[in-house]
Amino acid sequence: MNPPPEFASDNLFGMSSLAPLPLSTQATVLRGLGPARSVALQEAGIHTLRELLMQLPYRYVDRGSIVPLGDLEMRGFDPDLEDREIITVLGQVHDVRQTLTRIQRMALTEVLLNDGTGTLKLVFFNQPYLGRSLKIGDRLLAFGPLLEGRNGLEMRGPHIEQMGRAGNEGSRTGLDEIWVRRFLPLYRKMGPISSLVRKKLVEEALLRAHAPEEWLPPELCRHLPDTLTALRLLHQPPDESDGRQLNLRETPAHQRLAMEELFAFALGVELRRAGRLKRRGLVVPTSAELRNRLKSFLPFHLTNAQRKVFKEIVEDLTSGRVMHRLLQGDVGSGKTLVAFLSMAMVAETGGQGALLAPTEVLARQHALSFERLLGDEAHRIQLLLGPMKAVEKREALARIANGETRYIIGTHALFQETVKFNDLRLVVVDEQHRFGVKQREALKQKGGDPHWLVMSATPIPRSLALSLFGDLDQSVLDELPPGRQPIATRLLDMDGAERAWDLVEKEIRAGRQAFVVSPAIDPTDESKVRLRDIQAMESLIRARFPGLDMEVVHGRLKPDEMAARMNRFVRGDAKLLLATTVIEVGVDVPNASVMVVDHAERFGLSQLHQLRGRVGRGTHRSYFVMIASVETERLKVLVETQDGFMISQRDLEIRGPGEFFGTRQAGLPQFQVADLVRDRKLLQACREAAAKAIEAGLSDAQKDWLQREQERLRLAEVS
Ligand code: ADP
Ligand code: MG
Repeated sequence: MNPPPEFASDNLFGMSSLAPLPLSTQATVLRGLGPARSVALQEAGIHTLRELLMQLPYRYVDRGSIVPLGDLEMRGFDPDLEDREIITVLGQVHDVRQTLTRIQRMALTEVLLNDGTGTLKLVFFNQPYLGRSLKIGDRLLAFGPLLEGRNGLEMRGPHIEQMGRAGNEGSRTGLDEIWVRRFLPLYRKMGPISSLVRKKLVEEALLRAHAPEEWLPPELCRHLPDTLTALRLLHQPPDESDGRQLNLRETPAHQRLAMEELFAFALGVELRRAGRLKRRGLVVPTSAELRNRLKSFLPFHLTNAQRKVFKEIVEDLTSGRVMHRLLQGDVGSGKTLVAFLSMAMVAETGGQGALLAPTEVLARQHALSFERLLGDEAHRIQLLLGPMKAVEKREALARIANGETRYIIGTHALFQETVKFNDLRLVVVDEQHRFGVKQREALKQKGGDPHWLVMSATPIPRSLALSLFGDLDQSVLDELPPGRQPIATRLLDMDGAERAWDLVEKEIRAGRQAFVVSPAIDPTDESKVRLRDIQAMESLIRARFPGLDMEVVHGRLKPDEMAARMNRFVRGDAKLLLATTVIEVGVDVPNASVMVVDHAERFGLSQLHQLRGRVGRGTHRSYFVMIASVETERLKVLVETQDGFMISQRDLEIRGPGEFFGTRQAGLPQFQVADLVRDRKLLQACREAAAKAIEAGLSDAQKDWLQREQERLRLAEVS
């Protein structure tokens, strides 16, 4: 590959004679980096050439795809473009206007772009700074969807790139000077580092770097370019590249870089697993007596699935290895009872079990269920919450430390340093993905090496769970307790909402209870369309059901107040509970038979499914009603199926893993190129290769790589 022309002259001054640099070289060696830019890079976490090069362009613009504005005018509005095809245009700013939208009083910036063949209006919402920063004469590259505006075609909410400033030479540069090649890579702006400056830095880095030693096993990279070649292909795509593949991040070069991340990740997972299997676990003794005792606690027969899963847990607990097990099950499949049995097994043989819940509401509720199950032995339970009275807390801590209590249930408060366990042998984590890895680690410090049972609230598609939680063994509750009826699910538009209230009325008259869920709305968020917030909903309900005993709960209540209000509903005093998603997980009120979710479009599918699981817990026929006027196609999935695994698969496809799991909190590795959903197959191959590589012993290059990636990918220690 030839060096880009702007460096051809530099070569005369000896750049080519400099020794090539390893990718680990500090980026400050680059000539184009002044102090301001160095700082910007540092702040963005970019220290080395590799880190600079691993930040790939977010988009590639194909010179051939630029549409002359004259052509757009000629062709007028094409209704086939309704599917929001993205168009790319390039031109000079001719006019900038700042106004407000009429109805919502939102800042509106209108920019007239001219490319010599014609003009096009670009419309931006809520970006008033654009009106100040854009100058007449600036050259802009814009891409976005075309729509029919009041005065002809316009591009709404386009993404723009500055290609040259008014008055500068740059503003007069022609197409040929911006496009050294057919594809123009665009980078995220980073402080004073524009896309074009970034392109230059990257070019210099690529020119001066040398290829690193291969560390991927041959079976993974046989058909892929080496690292440096891959980086070159992605930063300076040759003209014959496939533009679509580039933008979808599906080229072999992308796969190469994704493979590096995934292999490192897989190695980390396998190492951790191998390390755990070597540790000696506390053996929990079983006996006929214990079995009888556990049975005596049970209010009903276990489902076959519960029995199978509990057997897997018993095998772990008695095996002499440390249990790390993920328990997956759809909403209502009876995970709590399995958790209880596991804790009882430990507690009734002299140890302590701790159950971690993500919220106080849930912790209290688990404590309540456990009390019912334990009956006379309920004094063995200790609840530990953040906001306890000092005396109460001191007493609780003492009871935990001296072993008086065996069943310890709590929230994050369990991580505090003041908590000392007497003999912690099992930790059960409910609703796993709400806990960060750090918190889990903190608890690990407190016991010898306790067993772990992790329960996932949202069923994760099997293939993904396997790749993600590869260091955990898996159990699945694939059966609901008997007598459950499917929850009748309806989707109503705003106009049809009265039917929802009729249903609520009918159920409450029949002695049942009802949930109404409102989306949490940030009142400062003006960009959104008008939403009915929880206050508006409260007025509506009070007007529709005068004199009804209802409670309202939301995230801004003090914990005590929240618990008091929830309790009135749990006890059946309040007939209707109006809530934000604070009730999303776990709340168990079998007498509640109907839930109405307002603005259902504001929720993820898995979240809605989770909410739906709050009803249908008793033997009464139950209803789940979503009110939504948009995104109805997506929401239909819930009407069509009650299978949580299927729903989460769809949800994952629609939202991607980051949002699905709640981003960083989830403890997911931060991949730059790899995508756990798209690259599932690659990950599977990596896992197999990783197991083999560990078996054979890691090479120095592989150890180096792991060391470097450890933090970002949350890998195991390499020893
Ligand atoms: P989840 O898996 O969503 O946490 P829960 O553990 O809250 O589900 O159980 C849902 C409901 O099913 C609870 O009311 C619980 O008492 C009931 N349940 C659990 N196991 C059984 C069983 N084997 N037979 C009958 N009902 C059960
Ligand atoms: Mg639960």
